[in-house]
Amino acid sequence: MAGIYIHIPFCRQKCYYCDFYKTVNTGQTPRFIKAIQQEARKRKDYAGSEKIETIYFGGGTPSVLNGNELAEILQFFRKEFEIVKEAEVTFEANPDDLTVNYLETLYQAGVNRLSIGLQALQNEHLKRMNRRHDVQQAIASVNDAQKAGFQNLSVDLIYGLPELTINQWKSTLKQIFSLPFLHLSAYHLTYHQGTPFYTWLKKGTLKELDEKESVEQFEILIETAERYGFEHYEISNFAKNHLYSKHNTSYWTGKKYLGLGPSAHSFNGNSRQWNMAHLEGYLKAQENNLPFFEEEVLSENEKFNEYILTRMRTKWGIQEQEIRNIFGSQVLNAFQKEIENYLQMELIKKENGNFTFTRKGLFISDDILSNLMII
Ligand code: SF4
Repeated sequence: MAGIYIHIPFCRQKCYYCDFYKTVNTGQTPRFIKAIQQEARKRKDYAGSEKIETIYFGGGTPSVLNGNELAEILQFFRKEFEIVKEAEVTFEANPDDLTVNYLETLYQAGVNRLSIGLQALQNEHLKRMNRRHDVQQAIASVNDAQKAGFQNLSVDLIYGLPELTINQWKSTLKQIFSLPFLHLSAYHLTYHQGTPFYTWLKKGTLKELDEKESVEQFEILIETAERYGFEHYEISNFAKNHLYSKHNTSYWTGKKYLGLGPSAHSFNGNSRQWNMAHLEGYLKAQENNLPFFEEEVLSENEKFNEYILTRMRTKWGIQEQEIRNIFGSQVLNAFQKEIENYLQMELIKKENGNFTFTRKGLFISDDILSNLMII
């Protein structure tokens, strides 16, 4: 089974922390829709004969598409690809786009998983990030989405924001968990080079949250989510009723995926491809049959690193036997030697030949993972 990712590169305005590829030139949407169809036709065989199990509209802001545009894209994929009947179709949306009418249109078009970017529940933080919505719209969007029929609802939050106090974070979580969603993605703020937040941090006009407070916010997040019956199944992701994101889980478990649109990445088990992150260049390339991506064939070491980095992020972790089967006994021996320290420090635990992070280990997972990789 494989997945399709479609990068919708349009945003109505740019958030100050965001480094995803996007443009505010939404007038190019009709040309873009043609271009992704052209790209999809060319790369139809990318995942071999595997059927499509997940379709993910990410961005940018997919909710800049109108109902007809979305229906056209989905009809195209249903015609051109073999998509399983119960396929997960995820659509990322901003709260201010989610009117009752629009929600109904999305549902009728075949979107069965909605991911709403709430990010914060204080207007001062939303404003500082340059989000377009306010708290009221954020809360209404989740309630309205449920009324429109969406059961598989996910919300996104950001913690570690400048000046986000522990009390504000606790109050955000308390309010959030009173809403009818079954999946939560919560990421710590990253200051990406090239974003206004990064510039302000360097200038000293924005102050990074103290590390101790960031860790405390992560702890509060995990404890609160678990108290509300959410399973912590990936470092930044929580799900109730086993409603894991199938699409993202396929990234973490090494499945193939085809990424369409500017800046989209693809993976076929042996190589990675990434499309040019430039809308006009991408459109011209599709219209005139020009090259539009770069490719990197993964070495055995890179495949191992990828395997460790992605699998260890999840609650399913990695299995000794699987490492031996895929990479051989020598790699397994080296890995066992490397991991011994972490087992003794109780940062990683081993159960029935399966390695996963302990709660303590999760907090420094990035450091541990970089030490486990083969250089
Ligand atoms: S966070 Fe989302 S809406 Fe904001 S600029 Fe980035 S892609 Fe656009």
